[in-house]
Amino acid sequence: MNIHEYQGKAVLKEFGAPVSRGFAAFTVEEAEAAAKQLPGPLYVVKSQIHAGGRGKGKFKELAADAKGGVRLAKSIDEVKAHAKEMLGNTLVTIQTGPAGKQVNRLYIEDGSDIEKEFYLSMLVDRETSRIAFVVSTEGGMNIEDVAHDTPEKIITFSVDPVTGAMPLHGRKVAKALGLSGDLAKQAEKLVAQLYTAFVTTDMAMLEINPLIITKDAQLKCLDAKISFDSNALYRHPNIMALRDVSEEDDKEIEASKYDLAYIALDGTIGCMVNGAGLAMATMDIIKLYGAEPANFLDVGGGASKEKVTAAFKIITADPAVKGILVNIFGGIMKCDVIAEGVIAAVKEVGLKVPLVVRLEGTNVELGKKIINESGLNVISADDLDDAAQKIVKAVKG
Ligand code: GDP
Ligand code: MG
Repeated sequence: MNIHEYQGKAVLKEFGAPVSRGFAAFTVEEAEAAAKQLPGPLYVVKSQIHAGGRGKGKFKELAADAKGGVRLAKSIDEVKAHAKEMLGNTLVTIQTGPAGKQVNRLYIEDGSDIEKEFYLSMLVDRETSRIAFVVSTEGGMNIEDVAHDTPEKIITFSVDPVTGAMPLHGRKVAKALGLSGDLAKQAEKLVAQLYTAFVTTDMAMLEINPLIITKDAQLKCLDAKISFDSNALYRHPNIMALRDVSEEDDKEIEASKYDLAYIALDGTIGCMVNGAGLAMATMDIIKLYGAEPANFLDVGGGASKEKVTAAFKIITADPAVKGILVNIFGGIMKCDVIAEGVIAAVKEVGLKVPLVVRLEGTNVELGKKIINESGLNVISADDLDDAAQKIVKAVKG
């Protein structure tokens, strides 16, 4: 689960990490009120969307030379003017895709005088099964170019979970950033705070870009991009409360209501599968035969008819879906339950695209019988390979 920058900074602040003062604002009036509570004379008006690259982003509705999604203001009037231009408009950044994202919230922050911009991120490194730090002196808005052109300027190390973050890790970061004296001390402290925040709240990723040195020699987190491990959210109701569903895919929200593991993808073949492994194999084989999956969907081991119905409805409601492949291996899941769910969903929402069904396992005969007697226009398949070829052929014609 992703959260907004201002929420991320509030989380970091709880763990003692240095961030600027600021307030979220949903309206121009709130933006003005927020600015009035800050000392000035420099303010920052920041679009809050679940995507980075805001500074260099462009608003669809504004002139091509208009400023981006992160703007400096030198007066409260200027804050108001920026807020008015940004709220309700669509910000397109390298991370939003061409459709962009509507800006519904702003963060009004006390402006910092920047001496230097660094990059610092943390993530769960699956190769080492540890939390890794990634740091670079070349922070700011061009980190993607740095990674591409001068990867040697990016320094990575991981932390042994048995010891947790130690002073040596802080020193590594300070060294990588070329810091000494008091700034090195600040870096050591920050590394410990960030590690504790990361572990305590079950983050999956934390990116601070830029991490800055201010003109008065203070280290500060000027941006914060955080995502949490969704599987651990049940342990953190306070973090779950930060969820902003307006930033999420409608289909994924609907799926989460039914506890379905669903991820929207770019292709044209909707997949309903049980078991994550089988779902991955199904996606692979669709690609092998030259098409692309429209989603990953695992209905789970013991899905009910209602859950299957909901899943099928989510797939059929997606206008990008040009064909559906139901691929079920009945173990705990029974094939007749799947068949009934599919039929119930089709009765409710209709079926406008080809449907290939491959059933195998528990109650397979009953499942096939239910589908055959339903009068549905189903193409049945005998195995995974056959099923994939049939749906790709049906979609491509
Ligand atoms: P992003 O573009 O989505 O990564 O948004 P950031 O929060 O990183 O802001 C983009 C850029 O705006 C930063 O890299 C800074 O250069 C600049 N910026 C953000 N806050 C301040 C500030 O308080 N003072 C100054 N001078 N620049 C800022
Ligand atoms: Mg940034």
